[in-house]
Amino acid sequence: MRYLLLLLVALLIAWQWRTARSRRSDRQAPRADEPIEMVVCAFCGVHLAKPEAVAGRQGFYCSAAHQRSHGG
Ligand SMILES: [Zn+2]
Repeated sequence: MRYLLLLLVALLIAWQWRTARSRRSDRQAPRADEPIEMVVCAFCGVHLAKPEAVAGRQGFYCSAAHQRSHGG
């Protein structure tokens, strides 16, 4: 029973080590395998990353000027 407990502790340490290692590699390559969602400007049709887009009522826009021009 004592060996089973030791094995459990060893597995726990190994698992935590693996988790810590994968977190470190995530920090070294931030969002490298994370695809950025692309949207199309509803006014001029240019493609841009969603975080950079301006959200309007009729869709996404590449700039606030196009959002105003499109009435959205
Ligand atoms: Zn535009």
